[in-house]
Amino acid sequence: MKTDKADILTLLRNSEDYVSGQQLCDRFEVTRTAVWKVINQLKDEGYQIESVSGRGYRLVEGPADMLSESEIASRLQTQWAGRKLYYFDSTGSTNTDAKRLGEEGNPHGTLVVADIQTAGKGRRGRSWQTLSGTALSFTLLLRPDFAPDKASMITLVMALSVAEAVEEITGAEAGIKWPNDIVMNRKKICGMLTEMTMTPEMDEIQYVVVGAGINVNNADPEEFQEEVRPAATSLRIETGRQYSRVQLLVKVLQRFEENYAIFLETLDLSGLRERYQSHLLNRGAQVNVLDPAGEYTGTAEGIDLQGELIVVRENGEKTPVYAGEVSVRGLYGYV
Ligand code: ATP
Repeated sequence: MKTDKADILTLLRNSEDYVSGQQLCDRFEVTRTAVWKVINQLKDEGYQIESVSGRGYRLVEGPADMLSESEIASRLQTQWAGRKLYYFDSTGSTNTDAKRLGEEGNPHGTLVVADIQTAGKGRRGRSWQTLSGTALSFTLLLRPDFAPDKASMITLVMALSVAEAVEEITGAEAGIKWPNDIVMNRKKICGMLTEMTMTPEMDEIQYVVVGAGINVNNADPEEFQEEVRPAATSLRIETGRQYSRVQLLVKVLQRFEENYAIFLETLDLSGLRERYQSHLLNRGAQVNVLDPAGEYTGTAEGIDLQGELIVVRENGEKTPVYAGEVSVRGLYGYV
């Protein structure tokens, strides 16, 4: 039987006292040598594990910001999100991976996490810059059984979940720029991309992938590419502290599970709108709607129950803006 590193790590993390080699052997039905090998692998990865003869092993400390399959799996606290997990040190785009995994029949809740994305994607063919060792990039595969026209709301559910998780972890305020950019001090810390695949008959959702890229531990704005720099920032730049990307991921997924369940009760945002709007930076603000059919300005009132942004135009007309096609900017800048 394969000894699962994540299971041993979980056991060590959850034990205040030493765990004896024998306990580990019995629990996972493996030999002493197998346990010893796993402990050594964990030590090589940077986990400080104390071994005392006659007592066993104790996890003293983990690496500060370790991103790996066993670190994620041993910390997850969710019912279904991330219970099937794919981790890559480097990949093109976690959304592309998740879509392939969707085609291959992977279940609802399958999670893809990568340290580096070499071809991260934004909305409408834009690119998302991911820096190694500092960003959290993940995509969740969902298999909803609701109608396709509800799927765009998933993005708002994830945006709320990321904003709430970021606030919990950092203690600082995180805003939402409609529909799904997460912002600190008027600069972007997170972008999201939701993509839907329909059944061949085109009448049902086959799967949806919702991906997010969060700038976590970038120390210096200079690390961002020049064209992104004016509107980009990281949790570390804004708060002066470094964070465990896995801890953030675990919180985001926990929040998403809770918020998604609330969304499923009504299949609209009635249970989440108040919380979403409490983060919404565009509310009451002048916005420029970059609609491919023609740009216009107005004042954003808030969102309706479908997640559309209600913009009151200068002639008083109220226009619901649908998230799929447009970007919304502040009149004088990014927000
Ligand atoms: P907006 O148009 O307001 O930026 P959007 O939702 O259309 O929002 P996304 O698809 O989420 O944008 O992200 C793509 C854009 O984000 C890119 O065009 C670029 O300007 C910016 N960007 C790319 N990488 C990063 C990054 N690491 N941090 C912050 N911003 C980035």
